[in-house]
Amino acid sequence: MELSKTAADPMPAEDRVSVSHSEPELVPSRYPLKIGDIEVLVVSDGVLSLPGPMLGHNADPSVRSAWFKEMFLPYDELDWALNVVVVKSGDRTILIDAGMGVAFPDLPRAGRTVQRLESAGINLASITDVAITHLHMDHIGGLLIKGVKERLRPDLRIHVAEAEVNFWESPDFSQVSMPTGFPEALRKTATRFLQEYKGQLQTFENQSELAPGVLITRIGGHTPGHSVVRLASRGERLTFAGDAVFPVGFQHPDWFNGFDHYPEEAARVRIQLLRELAANRESLVATHLSFPSVCHVAIDGDTFRWVPGHWRY
Ligand SMILES: [Zn+2]
Repeated sequence: MELSKTAADPMPAEDRVSVSHSEPELVPSRYPLKIGDIEVLVVSDGVLSLPGPMLGHNADPSVRSAWFKEMFLPYDELDWALNVVVVKSGDRTILIDAGMGVAFPDLPRAGRTVQRLESAGINLASITDVAITHLHMDHIGGLLIKGVKERLRPDLRIHVAEAEVNFWESPDFSQVSMPTGFPEALRKTATRFLQEYKGQLQTFENQSELAPGVLITRIGGHTPGHSVVRLASRGERLTFAGDAVFPVGFQHPDWFNGFDHYPEEAARVRIQLLRELAANRESLVATHLSFPSVCHVAIDGDTFRWVPGHWRY
């Protein structure tokens, strides 16, 4: 009952957050783990229903549809996971990406980050830093929900690569493959975000240490300023890869994602990152890998193998 109500939410987008957070959810959609001394909480923002072929728009259609079948995934319209992460290290509480928000009404099953942080007992005012992997709307929209900015601390620091901020002054959409309306919505959301939060932005060129063992590093590809967040403590490691890795990226790392602005570079960056994660034997969490997304990467011949994480409870 609740599920179908959520799927066809008739409420105006602006009201959705305040109304639904009063009702406890059947599935809390949060998953805690520890990397050494660093506390990590993966939170689902919801799902994005998007065309399956967007996961590999340069792939041979028959090979592509065979992959979907093999993975038991629907082809025409697929629910992409949308994960954000909260990291506590030292005296910092860092939100990594902020989910979809409510600015784009065509994706009404996402946008739950604020509500789910609050039900996890995380007050918005306790967040000291936000790390932004890139300025696509499904990664920043949560901070644009009405009333959110007022509840964040005035000394909040928002970390984003300088190259990302520069890119959105005149973004290049010539190599993407997105449904109609997306380029315009992405452009608008990024511009609005940069305007609203310009006083809080802390840009970095290639790398910045946000807290003990928490490093944000620009890798580019998906967007020129796309960054990953790497955690290391007491010999344990985890990388939040943002949009550098999609579910198809292990077996077909050279498939172009429809949201990649520079798909060839994105594929190069993805292969390099997956090789490194496999060699380090570290954990991987990525925005659009099925919740809670915690997994490992193994080498499999010329490509990679996805190894789901075991639930540690
Ligand atoms: Zn994304």
